[in-house]
Amino acid sequence: MRRVLATLLFLAMAVCAAPAAGDQIPRADLERRAAELSNTLPSQFHVVIEPPFVIVGDQEPAAVAGHAEGTVRWAVERLRRDYFPNDPNGIFTIWLFGSTESYERNTEKFFGQKPISPYGFCLNSRRALVMNITTGGGTLVHEMVHAFMESNFPECPVWFNEGLGSLYEQSQNRDGHIIGLTNWRLAGLQRAITAKQLPPFETLLAMSATEFYDKDKGTNYAQARYLLYYLQEKGLLAGFYRDFHDGVKKDPTGVATLRKALGREDLGAFQREWEAWVLKLTFP
Ligand SMILES: [Zn+2]
Repeated sequence: MRRVLATLLFLAMAVCAAPAAGDQIPRADLERRAAELSNTLPSQFHVVIEPPFVIVGDQEPAAVAGHAEGTVRWAVERLRRDYFPNDPNGIFTIWLFGSTESYERNTEKFFGQKPISPYGFCLNSRRALVMNITTGGGTLVHEMVHAFMESNFPECPVWFNEGLGSLYEQSQNRDGHIIGLTNWRLAGLQRAITAKQLPPFETLLAMSATEFYDKDKGTNYAQARYLLYYLQEKGLLAGFYRDFHDGVKKDPTGVATLRKALGREDLGAFQREWEAWVLKLTFP
């Protein structure tokens, strides 16, 4: 009996530890990139390989290693498990600046621009995630989602990309899976619901990048986030992602897949119920 149990345990562990089946960045490429950075950066920067990323930080080595394990490895394992078998296209370097002063000065120095957010941002053209890590790891996980989405679901519309990134800004582990929690985006969403200012889901899901980002009344990220939060809480998110990913050519906005996941034809009626549900959520 004990041997059977041991074998089962071994098999279970082997399954859990099996590498994801997608495209992986070779370790040698990560080592080459890490060596380049170590050789060229000033000595206060510490370089850590945390596949599929290379991390650079100007805090103490133990602090940089702590972010590498506690945030990056933690999220990579779970994002791979539920969504993203492929590594990002090319090596993204994660820059972790340990003070607001360092973040502002070094963003200018290394990237020739001012930070576009006080928390952190992704510079796709430079394959860089640039973070003011003193503000916490939430923005880092958000940007990691985008790095993976590009190589795993390139047809993904902006609402889903930003909704999933935003969902995991505030997250925790549940049975080995990443689970989004309510966060700071809730209050503004509840105000917009009360003021009847939200667009219908059909409109949100069909938005181009320009419409989503530039014509945002401040609610697009939150509306997308809490739609995905609803799917998560009803146990529908993983299945929705699979069906959307596999059927995106026929349903590029996801609206038909959403109707199917919810079992609802009338998304207007669903939205009224969803809004009432969101109004009862709390944060903190
Ligand atoms: Zn984003």
